[in-house]
Amino acid sequence: MKDVVLTGDRPTGPLHLGHYFGSLANRVRLQDVHPMYVLIADYQVITDRDLPGRIQRNITELLLDYLAVGLDPAKVTIFRHSAVPELNQLLLPFLSLVSVAELQRNPTVKDEIAHSSQRAVSGLMFTYPVHQAADILFCKGTLVPVGKDQLPHVEMTRLVARRFNERYGEVFPLPEAMMGEHPLLRGLDGGKMSKSRGNAITLSATEDETAALIRKARTDSDRLITFDETHRPEVANLLTLAALCLGRSPQDVAEEIGYGGAAALKRLVTEAVNEFLCPIRKRRKEHSEQDVRQILADGDERARERAVVTLDEVRAAMGF
Ligand code: ATP
Ligand code: MG
Repeated sequence: MKDVVLTGDRPTGPLHLGHYFGSLANRVRLQDVHPMYVLIADYQVITDRDLPGRIQRNITELLLDYLAVGLDPAKVTIFRHSAVPELNQLLLPFLSLVSVAELQRNPTVKDEIAHSSQRAVSGLMFTYPVHQAADILFCKGTLVPVGKDQLPHVEMTRLVARRFNERYGEVFPLPEAMMGEHPLLRGLDGGKMSKSRGNAITLSATEDETAALIRKARTDSDRLITFDETHRPEVANLLTLAALCLGRSPQDVAEEIGYGGAAALKRLVTEAVNEFLCPIRKRRKEHSEQDVRQILADGDERARERAVVTLDEVRAAMGF
């Protein structure tokens, strides 16, 4: 059986290098081989914030980021949660398949609650991993290119699929996560590089913005640059960023800098990142907002056609 690829992002801000090395690079590679759906998870924006914010703007920017890294809408169905009611309706039977204890144990949800600025934790925060099960299963996705933080959610999806099949008959495949070259890229503060944590090198920033951000990154005063993740995590992180962009090993990059200290390290990282992002940033400018609207309209329609079929199958299996 041929794999169906499903993956996506929340429209909470511009995509960053963590997305690229965690998931986007795999998507671009897989789009030539498998049918692929890429979800703009707009409903999930409100899991950890009170309002969707500049949602239309963020969706447009996200789509431009996709086009910039080389996702091809002729091959990939790019769509939005909010445009596919049938997908969302799967949440109902799926929620009945998991216990509250299972929802509360999810380590990624715990981490996101710790980093959320909301005063109260919403019910959606605990249930969105089941929503993600609907995202993956609506198209019978079997391969999910994601970063490490998403592994518990793919596990949740497998649980939902397994239990549904046990109760109602074989409907869903059990999907596999596919991690990228760097499944957990750290941001300039040492934590997970995230759109919402102000620690990200975004794909769309200018060269000067990128340089300024890297200049502010924390390092240490040892002039000899070495790659030591345990004792020098900040330096190791910068070396990792450069290494990924250069397609070399971080040890190799450290050796090149030698006794150059933090200044030489930052100079090299800035150059490596900016050079790597140059063609991506250029391609981003080749598309108009009109292109974006058309791509979304087409993608929403295709996704909806798929979701209608799955929901019918689910209802029939359940005897509704
Ligand atoms: P937010 O802070 O709003 O949650 P985010 O940066 O975590 O944003 P998401 O839209 O939640 O981005 O994640 C989209 C995809 O990118 C997921 O597959 C996730 O695993 C992957 N991803 C996000 N951040 C990283 C990272 N630092 N390293 C590797 N993969 C990442
Ligand atoms: Mg996230």
